[in-house]
Amino acid sequence: MSARLEVADIFRRHGEVYRRVHDGHLGRVERRTMSAIGLCRTAELGGHVEGCSSCGAIRVAYNSCRNRHCPKCQGQACRDWLAARQDELLPVPYQQAASINWLKRKK
Ligand SMILES: [Zn+2]
Repeated sequence: MSARLEVADIFRRHGEVYRRVHDGHLGRVERRTMSAIGLCRTAELGGHVEGCSSCGAIRVAYNSCRNRHCPKCQGQACRDWLAARQDELLPVPYQQAASINWLKRKK
C-alpha cells in the first residue's frame, strides 16, 4: 500500500460495508464503478512486464480499470483540463464569492 491514501484504498477497506448499508440506494453503475476503482492497477486486473533492452531492468505494471470515474485512470486528463482552464484565466487577481442561501434554507 502506498503512503498516500487513495479512493481505491477506501473502497477496498470499507466498500463492502458501504454497499451493504446502502444496498437500496446503490445502482448497478455505482457498484460497478466502486469495484473498478478498487481493482484498478492490482493483480486482479492482470498486468504486463516491461523490460529495458539496454540495462535489463524489469518492471511489472498492472492494468488500469479505464473507468471514467477512476481518479487514477483519469488523473492526467484532469490535470490537462485544469491546466487548460488556468490558461484561460485573465492575468488579474481573483476573489471567490459564496452565497449564504444554503444556510438560510437549513433553518
Ligand atoms: Zn482506474
